[in-house]
Amino acid sequence: MQNALSVDVEDWFQVGAFERTIRRADWDGLTHRVECNSDAVLDLFATAGVKATFFTLGWVAERYPALMRRIADAGHEVASHGYDHARVFTFTPEEFRADLRKSRAILEDASGQAVTGYRAPSFSIDPRTPWAHGILAEEGYRYSSSVAPIRHDHYGWPDSPRFAWKPVKDSPLVELPVTTAKWGKRTLAAGGGGFFRLLPYGFSRWAIRQVNDQAGRPAIIYFHPWEIDPDQPRVPDAPLRSKFRHYSNLSVMAAKLRRLTSDFDWTRIDALVEAEAARAS
Ligand SMILES: [Zn+2]
Repeated sequence: MQNALSVDVEDWFQVGAFERTIRRADWDGLTHRVECNSDAVLDLFATAGVKATFFTLGWVAERYPALMRRIADAGHEVASHGYDHARVFTFTPEEFRADLRKSRAILEDASGQAVTGYRAPSFSIDPRTPWAHGILAEEGYRYSSSVAPIRHDHYGWPDSPRFAWKPVKDSPLVELPVTTAKWGKRTLAAGGGGFFRLLPYGFSRWAIRQVNDQAGRPAIIYFHPWEIDPDQPRVPDAPLRSKFRHYSNLSVMAAKLRRLTSDFDWTRIDALVEAEAARAS
């Protein structure tokens, strides 16, 4: 069973947890670590023989086009994470369309690769944005991996399907939700990010095995380049809970990823799209 591994390429200061502490206008003046951290991810994947999908901010690709070329040249998929991490429910439909077009043009120019996949910042496609998938379909995207079918304090669409579904009538667009696990009647977040970093590795291994063996479906897992960087600058005046989530276990993340890449087979999301679309609800 091949699973899909994805990297949401954004810098340490672009995360939702710090949006009230660090102003968008100050980003260019901060220490950027996204390029060296993404190169470390590329090294880890090369050693493990893994191909993956890199959902990249247009803002990052604009500043680091050579990085985008290295990602594409290593055989990975370049996909869109929007321009500057504005969440979809903060846009009007036309602003969302403009954000998609702007970021895609930058990503394609920088990487030389066609962009067919999209992941909403902070999984921000939910019942507040009933128009979002329709616009992705109109803009020619093949898939979206933008919905977390869970209940969480910052995001989630708990009633949406756990596996591939077709959100737009008469369109081939397929939504590939981030992985969840079942514990009795409860649906648990198991797609990566903070959950993968904060919880023991055995939880993620159990969840992926459950998805593969019981549901017969691929897992869709994600993490961020800053999660393998224990030396990133600290944000002292961020909320305590945000700091706990952001800074815990950074030093063990690379080792956990090495276990993950050796315990399971991984590929790019676009390599799984046709098979998942054929099974979509
Ligand atoms: Zn993100």
